[in-house]
Amino acid sequence: MTDLLRALIRDVPDYPKAGILFRDITPLLRDTEGLQTTIDALATPWAAAEVDYVAGIEARGFVLGPSVALRLEAGFLPVRKAGKLPCPAAREEYDLEYGTAAIELHRDALGPGDHVVIVDDVLATGGTARAAVRLVEGLGATVVGLAFLIELTALGGRDGLDGHRIESVINY
Ligand code: AMP
Repeated sequence: MTDLLRALIRDVPDYPKAGILFRDITPLLRDTEGLQTTIDALATPWAAAEVDYVAGIEARGFVLGPSVALRLEAGFLPVRKAGKLPCPAAREEYDLEYGTAAIELHRDALGPGDHVVIVDDVLATGGTARAAVRLVEGLGATVVGLAFLIELTALGGRDGLDGHRIESVINY
């Protein structure tokens, strides 16, 4: 299963800048079997868990998250880049290599008693995922865990997320 998915992930050197090996999932999304296998692999580890919502991180978490949510009979929440949500939103900043970025979630999207799985395509340094955890927990909800298609193990993103269950389909 992972061989199929690996074969459909395209490595793009020096994108978006020199030194980054970008893992492009568009060939995988384009392939019917690849897409089906991806959604199954992301959802299956959580089948027995209590999940009310899947929170997908913009942008590729929006592509994968809703299908995972349907498999888990859960709703979908968009975690958006700063300034895009129309209603009052909680905001969390995180560090980039140069400067900071921020993600937001509508304040009325979650509350105490809600159980959330966070979904994104790639776990790299983990800064984005940690900010998403702070958003969900800051609204009083519980992070059941985090699901990634790809984990870049050498970057150690998992280390900053301890205490949370992390399921990744492919490790590089
Ligand atoms: P990080 O906050 O460092 O864990 O970065 C995770 C975010 O950046 C995810 O939303 C990914 O989509 C994106 N990302 C980071 N590194 C890569 C990479 N090598 N290939 C593709 N996407 C990446």
